Amino acid sequence: MVKLPEELEYERLLDRLYEKLPEEAKKPMRFEMPRAAVEIHGKTTLIRNAAQIAQIFRRDLNHFFKYITREMGTTGSIEGSAIRLKGRFGPATIQRKVEQYAKDYVLCPVCGKPDTHFIELRGVRMLKCEACGAVSPIPEL
Ligand SMILES: [Zn+2]
Repeated sequence: MVKLPEELEYERLLDRLYEKLPEEAKKPMRFEMPRAAVEIHGKTTLIRNAAQIAQIFRRDLNHFFKYITREMGTTGSIEGSAIRLKGRFGPATIQRKVEQYAKDYVLCPVCGKPDTHFIELRGVRMLKCEACGAVSPIPEL
C-alpha cells in the first residue's frame, strides 16, 4: 500500500519527538545485581551475605534458602544472616543461582524492574510488578 503524504509526515514527526526524549527515558533502569560472598569451610559452603541478598530482592530469607538448597541439591541451615550449605560450591556457581533467582522470582518479565512482590491468585503464587502492574507466573518452589 502506498502511504499518503500526511502519514509520512506523521511518522517523521514521531521520529523527531523520539529523538528529543532525554537519553534516560530511552534506556531501561539498571538493576544492581547483588554479589554473593561465598566461603568454603571444610565440607560446607557459607553464603555470608544471604540475608543482605534477600533484603535487596525484598524476599524472605527462608524463600531464598529453600531455592538455593533445592537448586544445589543439598541441605543446609540459616545461621544468622548467612546460609550454610552442605558440600563445596564455588562462588561463580552460587552467583549464577543468585542471578537465576532474581530472574525467576524478583525481576518483572514485562518491564525488567525489581519492584515486585508475591501475590496469591486463586491459590497460585504470582509475581506482581509495582512499576508496570503486570502479574506474571513464577516457577513453583
Ligand atoms: Zn513490570
